[in-house]
Amino acid sequence: MRKAAVGTALVCAATACAVAALIVRHRMKNSSRWSRAMAILKEFEEKCATPIGKLWMVADAMAVEMHAGLASDGGSKLKMLISYVDNLPTGYEKGLFYALDLGGTNFRVLRVQLGGKEKDVKQQAMEAIIPPHLMIGGSNELFDFIAAKLAEFVSSESGDFQLPAGRQRELGFTFSFPVRQTSLASGTLIKWTKGFSIDEMIGEDVVSELTKAMERQGLDMRVTALVNDTVGTLAGGRYSDKDVVSAVILGTGTNAAYVEKAHAIPKWHGLLPKSGEMVINMEWGNFRSSHLPLTDYDLSLDAESLNPGEQIFEKIISGMYLGEILRRVLLRLAEEASLFGDVVPPTLSVPFSLRTPVMSAMHHDSSPDLRVVESKLKEILGVVNTSLKTRKLVVELCHIIARRGARLSAAAIVGILKKQGRDTSTEKQRTVVAMDGGLYEHYSEFSERLEGTLTEMLGETVASTVTVTRATDGSGIGAALLAASHSQYLGTEES
Ligand code: ADP
Ligand code: MG
Repeated sequence: MRKAAVGTALVCAATACAVAALIVRHRMKNSSRWSRAMAILKEFEEKCATPIGKLWMVADAMAVEMHAGLASDGGSKLKMLISYVDNLPTGYEKGLFYALDLGGTNFRVLRVQLGGKEKDVKQQAMEAIIPPHLMIGGSNELFDFIAAKLAEFVSSESGDFQLPAGRQRELGFTFSFPVRQTSLASGTLIKWTKGFSIDEMIGEDVVSELTKAMERQGLDMRVTALVNDTVGTLAGGRYSDKDVVSAVILGTGTNAAYVEKAHAIPKWHGLLPKSGEMVINMEWGNFRSSHLPLTDYDLSLDAESLNPGEQIFEKIISGMYLGEILRRVLLRLAEEASLFGDVVPPTLSVPFSLRTPVMSAMHHDSSPDLRVVESKLKEILGVVNTSLKTRKLVVELCHIIARRGARLSAAAIVGILKKQGRDTSTEKQRTVVAMDGGLYEHYSEFSERLEGTLTEMLGETVASTVTVTRATDGSGIGAALLAASHSQYLGTEES
């Protein structure tokens, strides 16, 4: 071999050695990155664990807090607000009624013509978006906007919808923010949530604000019921099934209402209602207990939120936050285990950039190579060329987060059942929980697990007496029904 050839061969050999070393080092780096990722995953999974014993502690804590909140105002993180709804729809309601639903970025107006005992219900609805500047402006501006939309809707009334001559139109107002009721048709705002912030409204009577705005719009309408969406859903649920005794909302936020014995409400200083019952708006999103499995991700999410220290239960189970928890875990995996390569995708650092519907779409991906996960990661985070292993890890995280939320939601429902004495079966009593909200409706991995956990906690026998029913948009019709059952014309002759 000539010198030059020897030299070339040596260089080639050296290069081959270097390349091999690089590959080995890269593999080692990859494998240590991956084991770091696995360690983060495992730790998160352990912290989110909800074994059955823990779930029962959460259910017990919920029942204890319910007692405390009913005993006195401020007695618990649960406000346990008295709704003044002491008689739920009977099914005999009759006539034309309106409902207005305000509780998020959308608001809905609805009219129903109730047919009496045939339960023949005709309804029409209109939906509008609240312009964001009105959510943080003045109260007149917000209420004038709402009243104007309502007036526009009323002016389109015709045909099937008939108001007897000489009568005033009546409205049920679903206002899904914490309100201290002073009667069924009056109540003052305690605080805004869900991105609204109009300071001058705090402590004001919500119904008189709306009534004044309707007058300014030339609309002659009386508000006969002011309810929260959970109370509306309970009323709407009761109309279709007489065994409905509680309602749960799992949407952007979360809350529940249930039927309580009036004598079991020490802070109720009014007359005992004829029915002996009162609907309580729990405001359960603010529940907190040392038994809740909270992770570092939850704590930092809370600390950086608009309402630190508040709505802790809501922050681990509701639609506004599940995607955000996932984002936080993925960010850590990207930073500490280079899950998406050497650069952290910039979008991953933006709070709320990963919404719950995206998370549920990835979680529900049933394609063998997880194409939905791949495309969402690309679309939302700009990450390309993810390995199947990485995509499986993302699904596993969705699973952990949704499972914790669903199981805790079930435990909270069991807490209500316990408070109502319906967690053990003594006789053949049916218990129906009316459920609504986009999270419950669209995230089937969540809703199925919630129902499965109810059975796991209660056992087959008791669980067979408990039914969870979907009451999609039940709060609007519920508010209209409550307007009907509290009409100023009740007892007057029907035309
Ligand atoms: P709101 O709670 O604002 O009154 P909804 O009951 O319609 O309204 O719930 C909307 C919420 O439901 C969204 O903010 C989102 O968190 C959740 N959601 C909507 N669609 C889905 C979906 N496909 N998968 C999971 N969650 C969803
Ligand atoms: Mg809603």
